[in-house]
Amino acid sequence: MVAAAAALRRWSIPLLSCAVPAGFAVWAFPEGLAPVRAAGIITGWLGCGLLLVSLLLMLREPRLAAWLGGLERMYRWHHATGLAAYLFLLLHPLLLAANNLSSPRVAWQTLSPFTESWPVWSGWLGLLLLMGGLVTTFIRRIRYGTWRWLHALLGLGVLTGLVHLILLGIDEPVLPILAVAAGILGWRLIRGDLGLAARPYVVTSALPLAARSIEVVLRPLGDPAMVTPGQFVLVEFGNGDRYRGCGEFHPFTVSTIAGQDELHLAVKALGDCTTRMQAIEPGVAARVIGGFGGFVDPHGRAPQFWVAGGIGVTPFVALLNAGPLLHPTRLLYLYHCEADAAFLPELRATAAADPKFTLHAVETGDGVPDLGPLLPPAGELSGAECYLCGPPGLVAALKSALAARGVTAQHVHYENFEFR
Ligand SMILES: Cc1cc2nc3c(=O)[nH]c(=O)nc-3n(C[C@H](O)[C@H](O)[C@H](O)COP(=O)(O)OP(=O)(O)OC[C@H]3O[C@@H](n4cnc5c(N)ncnc54)[C@H](O)[C@@H]3O)c2cc1C
Repeated sequence: MVAAAAALRRWSIPLLSCAVPAGFAVWAFPEGLAPVRAAGIITGWLGCGLLLVSLLLMLREPRLAAWLGGLERMYRWHHATGLAAYLFLLLHPLLLAANNLSSPRVAWQTLSPFTESWPVWSGWLGLLLLMGGLVTTFIRRIRYGTWRWLHALLGLGVLTGLVHLILLGIDEPVLPILAVAAGILGWRLIRGDLGLAARPYVVTSALPLAARSIEVVLRPLGDPAMVTPGQFVLVEFGNGDRYRGCGEFHPFTVSTIAGQDELHLAVKALGDCTTRMQAIEPGVAARVIGGFGGFVDPHGRAPQFWVAGGIGVTPFVALLNAGPLLHPTRLLYLYHCEADAAFLPELRATAAADPKFTLHAVETGDGVPDLGPLLPPAGELSGAECYLCGPPGLVAALKSALAARGVTAQHVHYENFEFR
């Protein structure tokens, strides 16, 4: 049963990403056309199928995320399938034009958006919208809020692409696909962004935890969210007497679940909204969606090596708070300066009390740390499961450093404290 659930988590997204586009391609396979024209049509349908999968993977539903191996994994595949879809959709008009290469004028007419044909116009518009939505994902300087609006162009691009098919006279099975795509987009907007899936909570305490960090305690006002220690939730804080909420959901790891299903969250000021959250006060209403993720396996049999970058320590604190460790565990905790390091006294106390837990706390200053001397030698890492949590740059550097010590990817698990 456990093995079947693990296989489902592992293979469901790759299978979906192959089966949906392949199903479309088989259904639409054109008989008796020139091979290049047939390839042009097939690439269009492959792109369409991949886009539908990409849309599904942006839903923020805890149960769906659990089946598909977690929200972080869904987002990685959302990006990969979105990019692959775009490349297929770009090939689609190029191959259709290439089919007419013997007459450059006809080839250009196939491609040109100036032929004043609505099907061609809508096809190009769909592609441009998709490109706009995709490109913004790779420009890290764009503010998250602005990026989200620009990323919504992708959704418009999908709908415009489907209108392109209807204008071409292909309404079977385009209308059902259009309905599914619109349904997924609406579902995400209403349940995820507007918060219909959220549970009501209230802030009962907000106390300083370290420099630029507070610990917020939330009490449920109805049925609590289904969360286990180490998972993260999406939280939107409302307005208080002196606090003004940002009006958007942000991911935070639950560091403790106390009596009456109270959730403890550590919030570090890493940007505009989290800086504003430092002023949260008791009585502020909150909405919570989740829980998601939980990338550390508390029941695994192997020794564990944990690495935390800054506030990325929260999933590990959650596991230590949840109960005694079952296996030898070493935590390498990297932080800029000691005043900044949340939970450091608690971690030191646990290390002093629990022989299974070793803490290696390192003040890195503002520069990028040299990971070489900080990681255990290859011999000590062999047979261990490695869990990494922190900013994406640190996680990427750690993955390379561990690979250089012979740790294979299947023993490295990570959670980036950022998603777009
Ligand atoms: C799985 C996960 C768990 C996290 N757990 C914690 C935690 O326990 N404690 C903690 O202090 N921080 C945690 N973070 C980080 C925290 O969510 C970000 O610091 C916060 O969202 C930044 O918002 P901002 O507006 O202050 O910063 P900005 O400068 O606007 O954003 C900085 C980056 O944070 C990400 N981000 C911003 N807004 C959102 C949003 N609404 N939804 C998703 N990502 C967003 C974007 O990648 C952005 O580039 C976690 C992040 C993730 C992904």
